[in-house]
Amino acid sequence: MKLIPLASPNITDKAIDSVVSVLRSGMLVQGKFVNQLEYDICSYLDVSYCAAVSNGTASLHLALVTLGLGPEDEVILPALSYTATANVVELVGATPIFVDVNQDFTINVLLIEEKVTDKTKVIMPVHEFGIAADMDAILNIAERHNLWVLEDAACALGSKYKGRYCGTLGDFGSFSLHPRKAITSGEGGLVVTNNAIFDKKVRILRNHGIEPEVQPMEFSEAGFNYRLTDFQSALVLDQLASLDDIIAKRNDLAAIYYQELKSDHFRLPIVPNYAFSNWQTFQIVLNDQKTRNSLKDHLLKNNIQSNYGAQCIPEVKFFKNKYQLDSSNKFPNAFEAYNQGLAIPLYEKLTEEDINYISDCVNDFFKRNGE
Ligand SMILES: *Cc1c(COP(=O)(O)O)cnc(C)c1O
Repeated sequence: MKLIPLASPNITDKAIDSVVSVLRSGMLVQGKFVNQLEYDICSYLDVSYCAAVSNGTASLHLALVTLGLGPEDEVILPALSYTATANVVELVGATPIFVDVNQDFTINVLLIEEKVTDKTKVIMPVHEFGIAADMDAILNIAERHNLWVLEDAACALGSKYKGRYCGTLGDFGSFSLHPRKAITSGEGGLVVTNNAIFDKKVRILRNHGIEPEVQPMEFSEAGFNYRLTDFQSALVLDQLASLDDIIAKRNDLAAIYYQELKSDHFRLPIVPNYAFSNWQTFQIVLNDQKTRNSLKDHLLKNNIQSNYGAQCIPEVKFFKNKYQLDSSNKFPNAFEAYNQGLAIPLYEKLTEEDINYISDCVNDFFKRNGE
């Protein structure tokens, strides 16, 4: 029997042909496919500006540099995310201020305000695994304290909060096009905003500090090279056209998990009423770490790949050494999701039979362990 991988990108022959035609054309960077991708993302998300960049981490970094963040500043973010969310705060010299998450894996908005100080500049909610954070509450706090909101929507292209797309509600939205996300350009990222000044600055910074459309060429900033290539854009454009179908299929498959997986030994993902998930990741949380680890082994023996999801960031080596925070007390939900969470396969290439098979294997594991 073949291995069922945790994730698998959906690369069609059409997308491959399109990439090949870009390669044959010799126009590899900053050509018409990058422009097309930016245009299509703006129309899909109903947002004014999109800049395609080299990866999701670059897009978060560019947003923070554009906001002028530096050593005196603090950024509030959830303790549970992919570590890149906090790395970029360190990279601009600012200080990450961690807040625990709810059981739905997104930032607990009731704990944000007590962390706001004179130094706070940005709130950075994460739509973890594709599940929307409570944006109305976050925007409300941001408005009262005059803070920017940068949505880390790396996992959440196509996810919604109260019917509006994640990533379009704050001052900036950031997306990743890594193969582990719903659609992919290999590596890639997107910075979206409704603010023309921010967009212009992002475009300058992603391209060596060069002012777009200015002749003779002006280098007006010490910029990065965070550009996306044209062949990467061609690869993802085909998937973007099918994104709604991809998400619909993932929702159908997720519904089967909810039907089939029943146990006192773990809990299923919680999607609040205001959220529509793109199901980038289906993560269950086991009652203890040992069971989580042996379930992972059991699944692999049955040719099913699973993995630990996001990190409790204050627990990873760099942040642990630097801040020495007691996560089990300070961030109990993030700590639990990190130590007891297990992501299981969910993507559009899987069939109902696959999901039933995976569910049976999970249920079997607990039966054998004498449930
Ligand atoms: C994947 C991810 C990133 C990083 O995106 P890359 O494209 O891999 O750089 C950042 N934040 C979150 C929440 C992610 O899931």
